[in-house]
Amino acid sequence: MDIAAYEASGGYLAVRNAIRDLQPADVQAKVKDSNLRGRGGAGFPTGIKWGLVPMGPDAGTKYLVCNADEMEPNTFKDRLLMEGVPHQLIEGMLVAGYAIQATTGYIFLRGEYVKSAERLNAALAEARAAGLLGKNILGSGWSFELSVHTGAGRYICGEETALINSLEGRRANPRAKPPFPQIAGAWGRPTVVNNVESLSNLPHIINNGAEWFKGLSQGKSKDGGTKLYGCSGRVKRGGIYELPIGTSAREIIEEHAGGMRDGYTLKCWLPGGASTDFLMPEHLDLPMDFDSISKAGSRMGTGLIMAVDQTANMVSLVRNLEEFFARESCGWCTPCRDGLPWSVKMLIALEEGRGRMEDIEQLTKLTKALGPGRTFCAHAPGAMEPLQSALKFFRAEFEAGVAPAGTADADANIGLTG
Ligand code: NAD
Repeated sequence: MDIAAYEASGGYLAVRNAIRDLQPADVQAKVKDSNLRGRGGAGFPTGIKWGLVPMGPDAGTKYLVCNADEMEPNTFKDRLLMEGVPHQLIEGMLVAGYAIQATTGYIFLRGEYVKSAERLNAALAEARAAGLLGKNILGSGWSFELSVHTGAGRYICGEETALINSLEGRRANPRAKPPFPQIAGAWGRPTVVNNVESLSNLPHIINNGAEWFKGLSQGKSKDGGTKLYGCSGRVKRGGIYELPIGTSAREIIEEHAGGMRDGYTLKCWLPGGASTDFLMPEHLDLPMDFDSISKAGSRMGTGLIMAVDQTANMVSLVRNLEEFFARESCGWCTPCRDGLPWSVKMLIALEEGRGRMEDIEQLTKLTKALGPGRTFCAHAPGAMEPLQSALKFFRAEFEAGVAPAGTADADANIGLTG
């Protein structure tokens, strides 16, 4: 959609009105009241995140970064937003940039998203020509530069502090938090990192108000708005669907994704990308919102469901996921760097029928040793979520991979370095 089509459908009115009629604090208040929770996967409230940014005339250089490094397996919602309505994201960044009085913005884009880059750059040129970017925007005295920065294709760059290191030209290792980037981020300056979908909601919140946004959930959740859900696997109509936040997983899978293909039944499902715990068919009526899915022992994450059918071998499926996580570990901290490949070795042995009971015990211990608080960032704990839940729900499939007693395989020790 080009700028003419975007403006014809009300585009850029939100930022024009905000700059003319609202103070940055008013914009922050509207977004806080809307109860918008970050759509990157963690669900941290956007308004609260912004509220930590130092404001005032002496606050100096501040950055706004759009996290468009969408690499969660099974997740492609942000790509559709950027390819389809790039101006909506740019306008969302203008609203956010104005609210925190950022001086410079970056869209940190997954390197493989070539079409997104082309469309965003074309849209940025149109917005610049319309006086919506650059110095003294719309005569407000506020100046804001915005550009696309493409990453080199590492999953860890989606972690906001690794992203900031990469943006600065450093190796993409996460940084310790606190300090959170809102206080000390890019080049040591206050930096807000928001997801594409979160930012794309902002023009609509400004145009229609916080109460309207909250009402979009139609009472299905205490969270506000709609959510881009998705579904993949052996379903009839895999895709992305914009629905009230809190829509049940059953409705997403059975109605919007058309249900399982003929001959297939649902064995279990991952609620949002690969770094979440498996849930079972009995969890299908849960509202897909951050708190409900957490209470059930998983996380909504990105909200793109992976529907697993009865033919899947859970050891193979989890091995495939852990191979991805092991490859994408940045290697900075030992539990993650060494623990993830070790889990892969044991999973391969079990998959090939030459595992040992001790491997299952060791895998269980690893889910704790690599769990929350035991590693530098959320990468390894996220990687352990599908493993720990597969062990909980499908232990028999792991035990089926144990070699018979007395065989050479049963005596082989799959050590950390072996
Ligand atoms: P997190 O909960 O540590 O942080 C989320 C956001 O909230 C960050 O911006 C952080 O700065 C802010 N925040 C959290 N606690 C704060 C506090 N006390 N004070 C101020 N700000 C605070 O989560 P994370 O490690 O950044 O992200 C993990 C999530 O990322 C997972 O839920 C996963 O689903 C998701 N993820 C998404 C993708 C993708 O492609 N979209 C890829 C990988 C992971």
